[in-house]
Amino acid sequence: MATRNFKTFWDIEKEKTWRIYVLFAVLILLYFCPVFVLWSLIKFFIDIRRTLYRAGSSFKLFGFDTFVVLIIAAVAAGIHWYYSNKGVVSKVLRFLGAKYPDKRDKYHNVFQNVVDEIETAAGGFKVERYVLPTGAMNAFALADFSGRRVVGITEGLLSRLSRGELQSVIAHEISHIVSNDCLHTTITCSLFSLYSEALVHFNKTLSRHGSQPIPAVAGAVPQNVATVGLLSFPALLLLFVTDILGQLLNMFISREKEYRADASAVRLTRNPVSLASALYKIGTHWRGAGYGGEHIAAIFILSPLSRKFDEQEDFLATLFSTHPPLLKRLQVILHLAHADLTEIIRHVKEAKTIKTEVEVIKPVLRFHAQNKEKWQGPYTILQLQSLEWLEPGTRLRLIDHDEVLRAEEVPALSYFFQQRNDPAWKMRRLCPDCRKWLIVQNYEGLYLWCCPFCNGLLAEGDKLPRIFVRREKGFSERVQRLAEVMSDEAKKKRPHLSVLLSMSNPRPCPKCGQDMVHKFYSYAYHVEIDECQSCRLIWFDPDELEILQCLIEMG
Ligand SMILES: [Zn+2]
Ligand SMILES: [Zn+2]
Repeated sequence: MATRNFKTFWDIEKEKTWRIYVLFAVLILLYFCPVFVLWSLIKFFIDIRRTLYRAGSSFKLFGFDTFVVLIIAAVAAGIHWYYSNKGVVSKVLRFLGAKYPDKRDKYHNVFQNVVDEIETAAGGFKVERYVLPTGAMNAFALADFSGRRVVGITEGLLSRLSRGELQSVIAHEISHIVSNDCLHTTITCSLFSLYSEALVHFNKTLSRHGSQPIPAVAGAVPQNVATVGLLSFPALLLLFVTDILGQLLNMFISREKEYRADASAVRLTRNPVSLASALYKIGTHWRGAGYGGEHIAAIFILSPLSRKFDEQEDFLATLFSTHPPLLKRLQVILHLAHADLTEIIRHVKEAKTIKTEVEVIKPVLRFHAQNKEKWQGPYTILQLQSLEWLEPGTRLRLIDHDEVLRAEEVPALSYFFQQRNDPAWKMRRLCPDCRKWLIVQNYEGLYLWCCPFCNGLLAEGDKLPRIFVRREKGFSERVQRLAEVMSDEAKKKRPHLSVLLSMSNPRPCPKCGQDMVHKFYSYAYHVEIDECQSCRLIWFDPDELEILQCLIEMG
């Protein structure tokens, strides 16, 4: 039994306490030192003044007052501890921009199923699941005193790992939670590093405000810059101090925990090769540096920053680094698998070329449909699904045929009638051009709205990053050629172009009806889109989403 290898809850409880006491002692010391120095200086100067009137100094460095200083430090440390640990999991999740898995996303459902499996294998542990909407490759675990346990993964990792690799990564994260080292990591992060993380966010917000469009009032700009600078300086200083402290405390988060979690993941999944190839994939991709989370690196499977330092094994590196060297980790795992690294590398090496798909022109069936005794159409199967009045009993006639049949007798439509009661189908939107109902369509594991009459696509802006990291879809040569032309154009024209484009008749938003803004997707990608500024819905003309996706994959 895999669960036998884990310690019982009470063993863990006993073991965790000493580390937590040490952490608290460090915190008291942290407050004690400056207060003690300050108090000693005050005492010293009072003593000097007193010796001016009376002979003989009564200065003593330690005394009853030292005890009072210690109490003050302990109270301050207690307050610091309390506020740092209060809702720490929510704080970290907010900084990382973590989202609940989307129930209507195929990839997210695979993630949920894999977590279910590993929970069972680990003895029925229950964890909360989160997804980070970034193309970076990483995974993390969090736990706090209130009993919250969280496992999270980035979209990038979710879209690039095989199921076996995903199992290994989740097993690694759940092992951190089961062995409880996750709690120490989270507490250490909450006490020190989280402040650095908060300051980074603070600075980012400031600089974002600083770089806003130039205001009309003259003189407003320098003032703004000055404020930013003035506010940033103490913030940066504080960042520096807390960061150093956080780094120092990484010694409590020993590198050993990563080896232990790797070993435990192999026990749970019985698949060392998958774990090795997952780690290799993560190690050779962008892990999220710059996205956030660098200061709380310890919670991730591999540090978001790739520092040379982390790949060393000497005393200092062991002390300050949150993770052991990747190569060493791989060697340990591969030893278990009796495999060698070149095998893994060969296994992982993904073709960097873009998947080409042959555009098949299938003969499309078209039907006339009878509405109120009148024959209308012809319509394709998809177009029929967009008709408000289509019922299972609606009479259909195949084009150029006399035979009449009921709509539910057409296999593709009978599936549609079953699906029609799903809430996503009921949430109807009108095509901004044809004014026909859009229908829900699967696109790389997600649901988008599509117009069967003009082939336009409607997507929620926050779903696009998921589409861009997924590599399921191939592109026809036509789309690839269009993408190449556009990328050349973007390179030539970039400096002079604005993202906003004018349109004589703005399209109405399919959700709220307001005018959408016609623009390029970005300066780098000259794909024309229409975006509703309040609903964040984006309308793509035929092929445009594919072209954009192809452009992004071409890099
Ligand atoms: Zn349309
Ligand atoms: Zn809208």
